[in-house]
Amino acid sequence: MRTAYLDHAATTPPLPEVIEAMKPYLAERFGNPSALYALGRDSRRVLEESREKVASLIGAMPDEIVFTSGGTESDNMALLGVLLAGEGNGGHIVTTAVEHHAILETVRFLERLGYRATVVGVDSTGMVDPDDIRKAIRAETVLASVMHANNEVGTVEPLRRVADVCREAGVYLHSDTVQTVGNIPVDVDELGVDMLSMSGHKLYGPKGAGAIYVRRGTRVSGIIHGGEQERGMRAGTENIAGIVGLAAAAAAAARGMESRGERIAGLRNRLVDGILSSVEGVVLNGHPEVRLPNNAHLGIERVEGEAVCLHLDAVGICASTGSACTSEELEPSHVLLAMGIAPLKAHGSVRFTLGRGTTLEEIEYVLQELPPIVERLRAMAPL
Ligand code: PLP
Repeated sequence: MRTAYLDHAATTPPLPEVIEAMKPYLAERFGNPSALYALGRDSRRVLEESREKVASLIGAMPDEIVFTSGGTESDNMALLGVLLAGEGNGGHIVTTAVEHHAILETVRFLERLGYRATVVGVDSTGMVDPDDIRKAIRAETVLASVMHANNEVGTVEPLRRVADVCREAGVYLHSDTVQTVGNIPVDVDELGVDMLSMSGHKLYGPKGAGAIYVRRGTRVSGIIHGGEQERGMRAGTENIAGIVGLAAAAAAAARGMESRGERIAGLRNRLVDGILSSVEGVVLNGHPEVRLPNNAHLGIERVEGEAVCLHLDAVGICASTGSACTSEELEPSHVLLAMGIAPLKAHGSVRFTLGRGTTLEEIEYVLQELPPIVERLRAMAPL
């Protein structure tokens, strides 16, 4: 059977060079980086080399990188770490309605601890207005968290302008850059962020390995306590193989990023144009231009997104209705609802996210398979 993997926002296939780089650290080079003998020193050396590679991808200094288990932990650390480092319970945080659950659920947890939060809305394209962030900031605000690009609809947020607002107000800015690091240029100084979260498995690295960037001087406490690993910011014996894989993925991401993005955007446009011209009652959700090069999020009238995905799966095509975390829930996506899309329409969502390995043949295959699937589903259950 022909296949097409078009769910790169959920996870990406590890690059062969990532796997090769990791192998020795899963086998004979297993030393604990805290150990004094040569085997341990070898792990310590590769740990610090990896830190340099990851820092270099985002224009940071190596000592501003703390390795974590992935995007979720980095998001938790940014929010909990800044608020818990503050004095008393008075801290207030500003975030947006379209953040990943790793942010929104952490915000809810902070509220249960007595902290306060303001969740700012977005427009119909999923974009936040920096002025709304400005209005939400108050005297006791310590942190704003605004994602760089949305994992469902692909809209890229005006982060630099949000950073200017935060600087002016003396508020830290964290960004969930899980969907952008490795896919589009991310430079901590150009974006003006104080912290960012990244995840290995979204940039052709391993799962369970990620990092948080913490700008020098940012007051943030660790949330996992124990040993002195990661300068006391994140206790626990380091996941050396995962970190080496993340670093190899970071180095690979930096090479040819622009031309890769252009090629992928070309294929994405071919996919979107092809679907819009062959299936009636379809819209492209998210911002029409300011979006990730690999994202095509479609609202298909009079079908269930889940049903479309199951039928696509039956012909070897991997697509999703939105984020991996919500695809098993029956509630419509919080992102689409925040954009003002009616629940009935939100249920007809299908997201294709392309990647490094995506070919024109795969896109043509989707264009061949999708229209009859939609037609069949509409005929079976006319709404
Ligand atoms: N943030 C965003 C925007 C994501 O898309 C994801 C993964 O879906 C995460 C955070 C969580 O990252 P991880 O799977 O590494 O915990």
